Amino acid sequence: METYLGFDFGGTKLLIGEMDGNGTILKQKRYDTGILSQKEAAKRLVSCAEDYVKREGFAGSPVAAGVGIMGIVDVNSGVWRTLNHLEFSDIPLAGELKEVTGLDTVIDNDVKSATMAELKFGAGKISDNFIYVNIGTGLGAGIISGGKLIRGANNNAGEIGHIVVNRKNTVPCICGRTGCVEGLVSGMGIDSTARRMAKNMRTLLDTSDNGKRIDAREVFRLAQCGDEMCREIMKELVAELRELLLNLVRTVDPDLIVFGGGIVSGDVLLDELKEEINCPTLSGLKHGMIKSVLDPTKIGLMGAATHAMLKKEGTYI
Ligand SMILES: [Zn+2]
Repeated sequence: METYLGFDFGGTKLLIGEMDGNGTILKQKRYDTGILSQKEAAKRLVSCAEDYVKREGFAGSPVAAGVGIMGIVDVNSGVWRTLNHLEFSDIPLAGELKEVTGLDTVIDNDVKSATMAELKFGAGKISDNFIYVNIGTGLGAGIISGGKLIRGANNNAGEIGHIVVNRKNTVPCICGRTGCVEGLVSGMGIDSTARRMAKNMRTLLDTSDNGKRIDAREVFRLAQCGDEMCREIMKELVAELRELLLNLVRTVDPDLIVFGGGIVSGDVLLDELKEEINCPTLSGLKHGMIKSVLDPTKIGLMGAATHAMLKKEGTYI
C-alpha cells in the first residue's frame, strides 16, 4: 500500500507519521522538542527523522514526504526561510530530510498544509471557495479560491494575523505595525492582553508568572461566570475577530469559513461570534462558519502528508 510520510512541527513538539491515500494516519510518533532556534529545530527534525526511520519502520510503502512547519517557507526550492520572522537562516530542509528518508520531500507553512488536508478530506467536500482560519498560538489562514490555494508572490498569502483591526492598540507588533489582530486573537495575544489588563483590573484569572501561557479556555470560562476583565477580553476578541472575518469575506468572497486551532476547540468563542456577526456582508457565505471536522490532533500531520500526496499525484496546489 502506498503511503505518505508527514512531519508536523508545532514549535515545541514534532509529530512524524504515515498516512494512507484515504487520509487515515496509520502510525505516528511524538517528539517533544522544547523551544528551539530555527537552526536547532532543523537539526532536531533531521535527527528525529533518522530515529523514526530506524526505530519505527513503516506500516506501508511511503512514496513521498511532506513537512508542515511554522514560519515562512519557499515551497518551490524546499527552503525553510524563517521560524519566527526575525531570524532568517534559509535552511534547505526538504533536501536534508530527503537524504535521511530517501523520499521526495515538500515543505510548507503549517497552516497552508492543514488547509490542504481540509481541501482533500474536510471542507473541500462541500466547497471550492473557503477560508481555513487557524487560531492557535498565532493566527493564520489558508485561502482556497476556485479549488486552488492562494500563495502570493512570497508564499505569504494568508498571514492574516497582521491585518490591522484596532487602531487604538499601540502595542508594537513584530511586523512593524500596531493594532494587528494577532495581538489579541491568538493564544499569545490573549496571554499578553490578560497580563497587561490585570495590572489595572480585578480578576479571578491567575496571571502570576508561572512560566506557562494563560489558558484561553479559562479566560472564556471566567467571562461566562461574569469576571469583569475576562468579559472585557472576550468582548474585544469577538469584535476584532468579527472585523477581520468581514474584511476577509469582502476580499476573497468565500462561501464557507472553517475554523481550526486550540482557541476554537471549545464552542464558546464561535457561539459568541455568531451572535455578533450578523451583517449583509455574509450573504454569500452559504455554507456558514463551522469548526473543522478533522481531528485537531491530526490535521497538521494529515496536511503535511496530503501536500506530499498531491505533489506526487500531480494535482499540486
Ligand atoms: Zn503585525
